[in-house]
Amino acid sequence: MSNTLPAGWQARPGCLNDKILLVTGAGDGIGRACALAFAKLGATVVLLGRTQDKLEAVYDQIKRDGGKEPAMVPLNLAATTPVEYAQLADMLDTEFHRLDGIVHCAAVLGDITPMELYSAETWSQVMRVNLDAPVFLTQAMLPLLKASPSASVVFTSSSVGRKGRAFWGAYAVSKAGIESVTQVLADEMEHLGTLRFNAVNPGATRTTMRAKAYPAENPLTLKTPDEIVPLFTWLVSDDSRAVNGQSLDAQPKP
Ligand code: NAP
Repeated sequence: MSNTLPAGWQARPGCLNDKILLVTGAGDGIGRACALAFAKLGATVVLLGRTQDKLEAVYDQIKRDGGKEPAMVPLNLAATTPVEYAQLADMLDTEFHRLDGIVHCAAVLGDITPMELYSAETWSQVMRVNLDAPVFLTQAMLPLLKASPSASVVFTSSSVGRKGRAFWGAYAVSKAGIESVTQVLADEMEHLGTLRFNAVNPGATRTTMRAKAYPAENPLTLKTPDEIVPLFTWLVSDDSRAVNGQSLDAQPKP
């Protein structure tokens, strides 16, 4: 199997019509682009993010585009407790009775600095947002995901999660953890035949996080979030039903 979007694949209008999809980091960057694209294809999107104003702007855009009424969940993933994840699951259960997918985009960069100097406080914060939150949010959502006839969870990885790189510290380690979490969950749930887990490395993409990591780079040389969203769309659609436990590239090297 190729580890990217199948050549020539395009989303059919309405292909996500019956889907309830939760997107984290939905207020900005790649998560925002995913949320808007999924809603345009008919999904009901649950927008989870840290900044209420940003979520409201995405909510308004979806309504302007004629999408279905989204749900908004302002949540700071650095401080969310298991009780709060359980409360969110209860809320979604009451509203929707199931979940057909999660796209985990929320993440922080932390410091770009040698391991020797890495601050323990920043390390913990990066691990909480980039690794603990996707794990415990997914764990809390499992009953809802199992209630779907066809559910897909997409974690967002990075090239430094596949091969560690000097100075990328907690971010690299958190993304290596995400690759592993993807494989463990995919293996554990494969027997169900209705629930799958994959990881995507977006590659260099024009967002706030990328600008923070590479301040001297010309952002116009980078793909926009909209350009890399089709791989995420394919993964949450039923067209990728056979794909489980894979690590995919939105921008594969030629
Ligand atoms: P981004 O533009 O910085 O967006 C990150 C999103 O995460 C924002 O919506 C942010 O919310 C949210 N977030 C951060 N901390 C949070 C918290 N404590 N609680 C809830 N939400 C929080 O980043 P991006 O580039 O789109 O990144 C999306 C994913 O792709 C990340 O997992 C990233 O690691 C990965 N990635 C990106 C690139 C790239 O080149 N851009 C490359 C490889 C991997 P606020 O805006 O409200 O702070």
